[in-house]
Amino acid sequence: MSESLGSIQMYCPNCGQRNCGYKNAKGVVLMRCRKCSCCLSSKKMKEQKVVITVSQ
Ligand SMILES: [Zn+2]
Repeated sequence: MSESLGSIQMYCPNCGQRNCGYKNAKGVVLMRCRKCSCCLSSKKMKEQKVVITVSQ
């Protein structure tokens, strides 16, 4: 299956829980961990470089 728009699986860098994130129109993936409730945002700056921000 190819990567579908809107639904992306990510692992929480805080607790390791796998969650579903959603990509918005700007290409930023937003996710809320269902285990530790932290908010994640992942932005692809360049090829193969992903910046993940964790905020409680
Ligand atoms: Zn977590």
